[in-house]
Amino acid sequence: MSDVTTGPRYVVALDQGTTSSRAVLVDHDGKMVDVVQRPFNQIYPKPGWVEHNPHEILFSQLGCLTELLQKHGLGAEDVACIGIDNQRETTIVWDPSTGEPVMNAIVWQCRRTADMVEELCGDPEVAAKIQAKTGLLPDAYFSASKIAWILNNVPGARERAEAGELLFGTVDTWLVWVLTGGLVHATDVTNASRTMLYNIHEGCWDPWLLELFDIPASMMPEVRRSSGSFGETSYPGVPAGIPITGVAGDQQSALFGQCCFEAGQAKNTYGTGCFLLLHTGAEAPASKNSLVTTIAASAPDVDHTEYALEGSVFVAGAVIQWLRDELGLIRDAAETEYLASSVEDNAGVYIVPAFTGLGAPYWAADARGTITGLTRGANRAHIARAALESLAYQSADLVRAMEADAGAPIKTLNVDGGASRNNFLMQFQADMLGCEIRRPQNTETTSLGAAYLAGLAVGFWSGTDELRSLRTTDDVFERKMAPEQVDAYLAGWKEAVRRTL
Ligand code: ADP
Repeated sequence: MSDVTTGPRYVVALDQGTTSSRAVLVDHDGKMVDVVQRPFNQIYPKPGWVEHNPHEILFSQLGCLTELLQKHGLGAEDVACIGIDNQRETTIVWDPSTGEPVMNAIVWQCRRTADMVEELCGDPEVAAKIQAKTGLLPDAYFSASKIAWILNNVPGARERAEAGELLFGTVDTWLVWVLTGGLVHATDVTNASRTMLYNIHEGCWDPWLLELFDIPASMMPEVRRSSGSFGETSYPGVPAGIPITGVAGDQQSALFGQCCFEAGQAKNTYGTGCFLLLHTGAEAPASKNSLVTTIAASAPDVDHTEYALEGSVFVAGAVIQWLRDELGLIRDAAETEYLASSVEDNAGVYIVPAFTGLGAPYWAADARGTITGLTRGANRAHIARAALESLAYQSADLVRAMEADAGAPIKTLNVDGGASRNNFLMQFQADMLGCEIRRPQNTETTSLGAAYLAGLAVGFWSGTDELRSLRTTDDVFERKMAPEQVDAYLAGWKEAVRRTL
């Protein structure tokens, strides 16, 4: 264990997100001392296509890191290690002899390969085989088809890849490769599990999948555990010799940052959308409810692969933005808390925000949003309340689907994300679910997860017990509503969804 009185005092988390990069300084008490954030450009070459410039990702990320260190007068000796969490699935292919990407990064949101995926994976038998190997439902979202697209469309790329002259990486791999001066070409198990090329049961790049997408195995990074060595910094302008010892995809990082280390522990992030992950331990249950099975990040002393079930709500906080920006009903998101609490109930008003269809457990891509149950007495507060309630109902639907897949109830739901600050929403969520809702003081759990993974690997923290002990003053919400009332709210939601479908 490092001596906290004389050893390095901090861990730095590099939080590489979809719209911005952040560097976060975390101290031994798990406190976030400071954050530096830099946005970067979103590139939309055509409708439905999304790209990032890999150099912009890199320089925004390194800019945050060096600014943070300079601001606090820190050198390599003050930083025990670096952890990285990143936007998942986003795909970069580069030439290691020059360090030049062959084109922009294809971002997870990009739909350019939807037809390719339909063509290669449309056969239900093929789709089932992919789900059995990767835990994923075939989709353009994951990296596999994005790599294939690059090889098929960038002149000369396929020949160069087959000659072993190109490397593939998700954003973590790209950052690690550059930061280590090109020494380490590696990813972690959580990022690997989102490529749709990784066999999550056997723990290897799957030869059948590589062949299906026609991707040379030589491009693929080595897959390492999330908490362990990824080399050390060796890049001009960055203090040299800081060990990089934690890597995880953003959602798995948040699960770890929420101290969900064991089967049955779950977290829900209430952001623009919601991301719900349930730790399932050594079991990798195959979902019957169109959820995905993914690899969870593990502490270094865990000697087997751990898994999680994952599901998402497409429109969550986005419906609150819609109230603000399209309807002009509120000035800022936080106002919904007061409005929703100002009325006794929802007066029968429900909003089903199916702006882009409905996901699990309904899977209705063509569904569109509805507001039901309006009467002459319905007012602004009821609409705001219905919008907030919709986050809770959609999350509750997801929780129930997950419990069915896992075969056990979720007893505690750990929450984070912007909308988790809304006390009305959290109380209503506890009422609808009947389980305990825990909101940590520090809801920046994504960066915290990366810091924890990195810190555990170098003994900055002694183990997961110590990490749990850092988290003492959660806000806890429990069901207060009478069961008949809960049933009435849920029945109203069911009926509203039925009308939407
Ligand atoms: P993301 O990381 O997806 O951009 P954040 O975690 O920053 O999202 O959360 C922002 C979202 O949460 C926005 O959609 C916003 O409308 C919603 N939000 C933020 N604060 C509140 C609040 N107090 N009540 C309800 N919704 C909120």
